Amino acid sequence: MNLILLGPPGAGKGTQAKRLEESHGMAQISTGDMLRAEVKAGTALGLEAKALMEAGALVPDAIVIGMLGNRITQPDCARGFILDGFPRTVPQAEALDLMLDEKGLKLDGVIELKVDDAALTDRIAGRFTCAKCGTGYHDTFKPTAKAGLCDSCDSTEFVRRSDDRRETVAARLDAYHQQTAPILPHYASKGRFYTVDGMAEMDDVTKELETLLARIKG
Ligand code: AMP
Repeated sequence: MNLILLGPPGAGKGTQAKRLEESHGMAQISTGDMLRAEVKAGTALGLEAKALMEAGALVPDAIVIGMLGNRITQPDCARGFILDGFPRTVPQAEALDLMLDEKGLKLDGVIELKVDDAALTDRIAGRFTCAKCGTGYHDTFKPTAKAGLCDSCDSTEFVRRSDDRRETVAARLDAYHQQTAPILPHYASKGRFYTVDGMAEMDDVTKELETLLARIKG
């Protein structure tokens, strides 16, 4: 099954995509994670993307489209994929349509996680991740059980994304409304477009997504 998870930053796309990857074996493809890996590795692409990402702006379409095109041909995508953070502009959505056509692939569903803007800044600004195993936490909504210790692997090292600062979040939300929200009608008009309430508890969102996936599978 090939899916797209759409929604503003902080809607829970990454968390839910990871859970669906675990339960269904689809490959989670996060262009944000791929770009952060390029920045960390200090590649030319990473250098080009870094300042834009830190400013909360989008990376040029040509870069992410090229990256995504390579990624969906990897063997782990044969069992399906779930796109998280792509497409983010109308040209990206159009390029994806073309890529899928060329590869004889189709989208089984485009799922929007709907969240109130007011909740997003608080959700994003408190996020942190275990540096060792990647388990995600939140200062207020999902703290570690023991202070300073990862629940999953006991590591004491945590990381925060540099673009999760309050100042940058406003720019990211702006980019979402200006550049990404216009792709919703692109998909709504094609059918197989679903909306899930992203304001619900994380586990309830997962349940709703699982019900939806069962329906899509038919
Ligand atoms: P994310 O992890 O999806 O929130 O993405 C983090 C940052 O990476 C974004 O704020 C953008 O700067 C960049 N980025 C990720 N995916 C895309 C995309 N599809 N198009 C343009 N920029 C992207």
